[in-house]
Amino acid sequence: MAAWKKLIGLAPRQPLPYVISEQPHALAEAEGSLVNAADAHNSDALSIRYLGTAGFVISHRDRTIVLDPYLTRPGIIASLTQRLIPNAELIKKHIPHADDVLIGHAHHDHILDGPDLCKQTGARLIGSQATRQVGLAAGLPESQLLATNGNEDIASGSWTIRGLPSLHGTIFGRIPFPGDLSAPPPWPPRMHELRHGLVLNWLVDTGSLKIMHIDSADFINEQLQGQRCDILCLCAIGRQARPNYVRDAISLLRPRWVIPCHWDTMITPIEDEPDLLPGVDLLGFLDEIREAGATPLLTPMLGTQVFTTT
Ligand SMILES: [Zn+2]
Repeated sequence: MAAWKKLIGLAPRQPLPYVISEQPHALAEAEGSLVNAADAHNSDALSIRYLGTAGFVISHRDRTIVLDPYLTRPGIIASLTQRLIPNAELIKKHIPHADDVLIGHAHHDHILDGPDLCKQTGARLIGSQATRQVGLAAGLPESQLLATNGNEDIASGSWTIRGLPSLHGTIFGRIPFPGDLSAPPPWPPRMHELRHGLVLNWLVDTGSLKIMHIDSADFINEQLQGQRCDILCLCAIGRQARPNYVRDAISLLRPRWVIPCHWDTMITPIEDEPDLLPGVDLLGFLDEIREAGATPLLTPMLGTQVFTTT
């Protein structure tokens, strides 16, 4: 184990209790899964691929929506001292196609790879006004930028997407890099130059399954009230700062499944085994999800969950 990891208190790698991976045999054995090996290749299956951090790719039939892609993941020294340069080849390798790219907030670990992915695929970059400023900084044309203040339905092919205004969680009692972006930041940016701006929880309605994405450890109850989802992608970091974070999110949205996200350090290469973030009690998180009445689907980095839609 590297010395710096010991210094900052990282635990040695521990086996993660994955319940599903993209391996067909694991799909067949998965608790709570709708799928079996045959269904995994069913053209009517909806798949959700986990990209690490808060990143996901949702695909069904001919539609693909990407949330918070962050594959570049510079190491800790580079992240703290250098401009963050999106790794275009890595993005292309792992996300060859996207119709729309949704950003929950404009911190680097949620937005850095979004503009390059849009350049490569022609997808729209959709998010807050801060997200729009980042898109402009990276050179995206107006035709690929869509800003929203939330609470509006946006058509994405036959799907409907809606951003619900939310809050950024606190870490050690503080919101990291707070504030908004009213002008394009330098590009490529340094970490601190990307302020979170409006935080949005995304509700993706595919017409069959509804997916809610909560990419930070807080939310506004009134915004989630009256919403329902089948699958909730829920942030595991910093949840201790908000009392009843898991219980409230699940009782408001009543998902059947919860896919944990934002539990790794985000500074290991995407194709390596991840390190668990200090302070993230992943097993406790899974227990809380079960106690609240939903089924956790812990997903490996670059692993895929597959759901039947009929
Ligand atoms: Zn953030």
